[in-house]
Amino acid sequence: MDLKDKIAIVTGGSRGIGKKTVEILSELGARVYFTYNKSNEEADKISDNTGAVAIRCCQTDRSSIMDIVNSIFEKEKRIDILVNNAGITDDQFFAIAEMDRWQEVLDVNLDGTVYWSKSVCKPMIQAGGGSIINVASVSGLVGIPGQTNYSTSKGAILAFTRSLAAELASKKVKVNSVVPGFIETDMTGKMPRDIKRQNLGKIALKRFGKPEEVAKVIAFLASDDSSYIVGQTIVVDGGLTATAVF
Ligand code: NAP
Repeated sequence: MDLKDKIAIVTGGSRGIGKKTVEILSELGARVYFTYNKSNEEADKISDNTGAVAIRCCQTDRSSIMDIVNSIFEKEKRIDILVNNAGITDDQFFAIAEMDRWQEVLDVNLDGTVYWSKSVCKPMIQAGGGSIINVASVSGLVGIPGQTNYSTSKGAILAFTRSLAAELASKKVKVNSVVPGFIETDMTGKMPRDIKRQNLGKIALKRFGKPEEVAKVIAFLASDDSSYIVGQTIVVDGGLTATAVF
């Protein structure tokens, strides 16, 4: 795969899957801009190690998202790749859920993805094409107790991906989703040990995935090697959804 001189934006690049994506896209030759929200020190370290540009921007800050995209486009004259990776969980049983917390998951995961995508659409079309990769979750495919907010956000991202792909394919902008299963990051690190053990038992490969196993698929979808893949949901879950019953 070659991403030489491609201009890429990765949201939530300071930790986990996003961090690995920044590293791999940079190794493949892309000039990468990535966002973070709270992890300043981690973001600085990644910048020092990869040359990628770290930008503090919360997913819910719509006007900053638009300003950042405009300033990157002004400087680089193109934006080739957008990886909508930033995301949070805040599990609660729906019957007793606090709706402000419920809504925050939707705002960060879904609305953030929508506004970053909206901001890059015109620049990508003007520059003759691009690739948008949305990071969803198996929680958008199957029901997981406690995750109505997260599942709603990720299921909507899958639907958004397909419709946006249908709109943008003729403009040479590919839109696809990657669906990770359980991956070893801070997000799964906070899972109670017994739940982790139960989930492990449901995965065909009997292990959690590594961030690079998702990031490499993202890199493939970002590259011209995936030129005929449009509107797809690529599941990277060690066989979890193909073989398990929740
Ligand atoms: P993670 O380790 O918790 O990292 C999350 C990243 O998102 C961090 O860089 C964080 O930045 C950023 N972020 C969070 N809230 C933000 C906000 N309001 N504004 C901007 N950035 C924000 O998560 P991960 O496991 O790598 O997950 C990455 C993506 O994969 C998410 O969309 C997640 O839903 C999805 N996913 C993960 C798994 C899994 O098992 N890990 C499974 C399925 C799907 P700061 O640290 O700076 O706040």
